[in-house]
Amino acid sequence: MTVPLLERFRERLPISSATPVVTLGEGSTPLVRAPRLSARLGAEVWLKWEGANPTGSFKDRGMTVAVAKALEDGAAAVVCASTGNTSASAAAYAARAGLPALVLLPAGAVALGKVAQARAAGAVLLQVEGSFDDALGAARELDARGTHALVNSLNPYRLEGQKTAAFELVEELGGPPDVLALPYGGGGNTAAYARGFREAGEGLPRFLLGEAADRSGTAASAIRIGTPVHREAVDAAFAESGGSAIELPDEEILAAWKLLAAEEGLFAEPSSAAGVAALLRSPPPAGARVVCVVTGHGLKDPEAVDRAFPPPRSVAPGPDAIAAAVA
Ligand SMILES: *Cc1c(COP(=O)(O)O)cnc(C)c1O
Repeated sequence: MTVPLLERFRERLPISSATPVVTLGEGSTPLVRAPRLSARLGAEVWLKWEGANPTGSFKDRGMTVAVAKALEDGAAAVVCASTGNTSASAAAYAARAGLPALVLLPAGAVALGKVAQARAAGAVLLQVEGSFDDALGAARELDARGTHALVNSLNPYRLEGQKTAAFELVEELGGPPDVLALPYGGGGNTAAYARGFREAGEGLPRFLLGEAADRSGTAASAIRIGTPVHREAVDAAFAESGGSAIELPDEEILAAWKLLAAEEGLFAEPSSAAGVAALLRSPPPAGARVVCVVTGHGLKDPEAVDRAFPPPRSVAPGPDAIAAAVA
């Protein structure tokens, strides 16, 4: 049985015995060696596989805390603006808590699997005719009016939950890695890791972030965010750790995404490979211990596979025809 994140890290989270444990078995995700990436980069590379969370992304770490606190505080409903994974996670944890969920989607910019998850969990989904930033503005206003609890990463409990990934890394590696590579969307996850490493008390890794060169138009939908709301916290982490963000064209993100699946066997969604792409562009020092956070599952975005790979070929049902087709 997976120990709920709220119980495993109870002492280090802003919760009490009055806080309900709303769990789907999040956190405690696999840390997988990446032998081919290690050989390619001349470093010791590990993959933190956050696609193994219950709804398939790291968002579940924050959502278990945010929804538990919303329930404790007597919220009537939760709301989020989302390019996808936050909505899938909010819908699932709200269902678990018995709360209605309202999801505001930016028009035409969301991956198929994520919307399917939120719909199946019974959330109300509205497509807002505007950008992600417009949808987030509306969600904040509903929170201010008191009708809904906002569960975007502006909700401080989200980052509190997400910081636990840093605790897991420190426990498993015996300290922070030299380099932590991850995607840079709104920057909430980076801010959360920085907080977690600070609280673990052994210093920060150097943060290497991959962000889309075209933030508003990238095919990597989970990081299609015009303005990162956590930019100040990200810059503070850079100042402390010597880290940096690398702007990546979509081709480099997609090449890293294919490499993760074909060389390491991890099928992630394209955005999740931005940290790997940043590492390939800006290799770590020889022998460095590197963790790449692989943020979300590939099944979230099956259309990305359709765009990148040919469909299966048809073949007659005999062994000769099949052997000829693969010769
Ligand atoms: C949310 C998300 C990101 C971006 O994280 P930020 O905290 O916004 O920087 C990256 N990858 C996936 C799969 C996500 O769901």
